Amino acid sequence: MTGRRTFGTLGFAALAAAVIAVVGLLPMDSYTVHILVQTATFAIAVFGLTVVLGLCGQINLAQAAFFGLGAYAVGLGTTALHLNFWLAMLMAVALAVLAGALLGMTTLRLGGHYLAMVTISFQQIITLVMVNWIPVTRGPDGVSGIARPPFFESANAYLGLCVFAMAAIGYFVWRLPHTRLGRAMRAIRDNELAASVAGVNVYRVKVAAFALSAILGAIGGGLFASGFAYVSPDQFSFAESIVFITMTLLGGVSSPIGALIGTGLLIVLPESLRFMKSVPGLYLALYGLAIILIIRYMPDGIWGFVQDRVRRWLPPAPFTGPPAELVLTRGTAAGTRVALQVRDLAKHFGGVKAVDKVSFSVSQGGVHALIGPNGSGKTTTLNVLSGLYVATSGSVLLGGRDITTLPAHARTAAGLGRTFQNIRLFRSMTALENVVIGAEQGGARGHADHARLVELARAALAFVGLEARAHERVTGFSYGHQRLIEIARALAGQPSLLLLDEPGAGLNSSEKLALRDLLRRIADKGLTILIIDHDMTLVTEVAHQITVLNFGRCIADGGVAQVLQQPDVIAAYLGTEPDAPAFS
Ligand code: ADP
Ligand code: MG
Repeated sequence: MTGRRTFGTLGFAALAAAVIAVVGLLPMDSYTVHILVQTATFAIAVFGLTVVLGLCGQINLAQAAFFGLGAYAVGLGTTALHLNFWLAMLMAVALAVLAGALLGMTTLRLGGHYLAMVTISFQQIITLVMVNWIPVTRGPDGVSGIARPPFFESANAYLGLCVFAMAAIGYFVWRLPHTRLGRAMRAIRDNELAASVAGVNVYRVKVAAFALSAILGAIGGGLFASGFAYVSPDQFSFAESIVFITMTLLGGVSSPIGALIGTGLLIVLPESLRFMKSVPGLYLALYGLAIILIIRYMPDGIWGFVQDRVRRWLPPAPFTGPPAELVLTRGTAAGTRVALQVRDLAKHFGGVKAVDKVSFSVSQGGVHALIGPNGSGKTTTLNVLSGLYVATSGSVLLGGRDITTLPAHARTAAGLGRTFQNIRLFRSMTALENVVIGAEQGGARGHADHARLVELARAALAFVGLEARAHERVTGFSYGHQRLIEIARALAGQPSLLLLDEPGAGLNSSEKLALRDLLRRIADKGLTILIIDHDMTLVTEVAHQITVLNFGRCIADGGVAQVLQQPDVIAAYLGTEPDAPAFS
């Protein structure tokens, strides 16, 4: 292991030296060097957007502010503070982490339009500080005489350094989607709620994405400042943030290769159209038209378009060997006889008592059904159990452990798995990738080994009968199969209790039979299931215990045959709710 690591480090150093030497020795005129330094440093900042916007789906309209923060830290650090370039760069990164994490922590609970607005405000504040805090930033005059690091003083050598930094950071960002953190980011981008239920700590991952994006912005800015020896506030305005965003969208938002393509184009294109300056406005019009055309016909950017073509020609290699048997370790390792204990649980929405002092317990092993007419509070109960809603009062014990106040992802880690009434899959991913996230964030937390996660995900997919199509995008599956993938994702998290919200809804009769068999096979493996369903045939065939809700209250609880004979249960279904499904 250490031998391999030493070898890797040596190889990396050799590559670095080679890049710097080759770029440093190439004969180039100063104009070309200038354009290339700009491209390399901008690209690093745009890689930051690849992380926060492309991977994590969070809008950041302040990347120019982070770029400026880095540029000013290096600018003022090497001039006013007489720091070494590297120390100044370290200061830039530290400032960016601080600002990025702070901005993230205070705003990321907002999301959407609010997040966009707050990042714009942050951008404007930084610009105002640069312009008006004259004693420190020197105001509109800017900072000049910025130093370069030793050995990289010549234009070519410095370009070599920038290209190397860009390549190294680009490689890191390119690998990121295939790491645990990167997969968590993609899950959040695709479906935040499902991500949290699959075990992702949504808030922490978002803050990490924001901080990472800020760091890359600052590194790009710091290198930019030394490259041009001069910085001024107008270089880091809101308009520049828009340019950064356009670069990512144009090239392809989810890959650093796209970021590099977009950056290169938006720097080179205006330069190459400059000869048209004799006709005022023509150059801007053509430039705008080109961008509109590309974004119109390549919605995933240029690189997204290319990747799509490549994927069609080169489908991923099929698996070798049969899938492993799915092992539900936690389900069988019975700690207590009671899997779930719900005590006086209530959830009020203003005046609506959606769940009103409900108590029941689910014993270890077998299938427990939660039924009731539409609007009786079943889904709300499940949402409170899985931590998506905070309980108004009452408590929830999972295997004897009080989980009432835990956030959703922590409940998943504690052994809860669930599916949704409206399917929530990670839509940009394959079936396998969806299930890998369930495996990684849930029960297999300790196992960082990717091959093992894939094995587990494969086993879960095979268990629901979809292993042969593991590499297909989930959007290509039928509705019924998407439900199965959701169940596989929950199973891969190795839950001790599986919550299913109307898994039979929208399935045809043969799919329902398959679902019934699947539920029986899951129960046979020792995993406890709490299922909500309207289909009384399904419920009576698989469940041994039933809890009935009506108007948020528990009106019956016990063995199947006994509960279904109770007059108030029959009345709740047939009497008061004309359009509620009958026992059919
Ligand atoms: P079920 O799943 O049994 O059909 P729900 O749990 O979805 O019922 O809903 C129970 C009641 O709570 C309904 O009256 C519904 O309108 C209300 N409700 C559910 N979610 C919310 C919410 N987020 N805000 C306000 N009311 C809600
Ligand atoms: Mg419901």
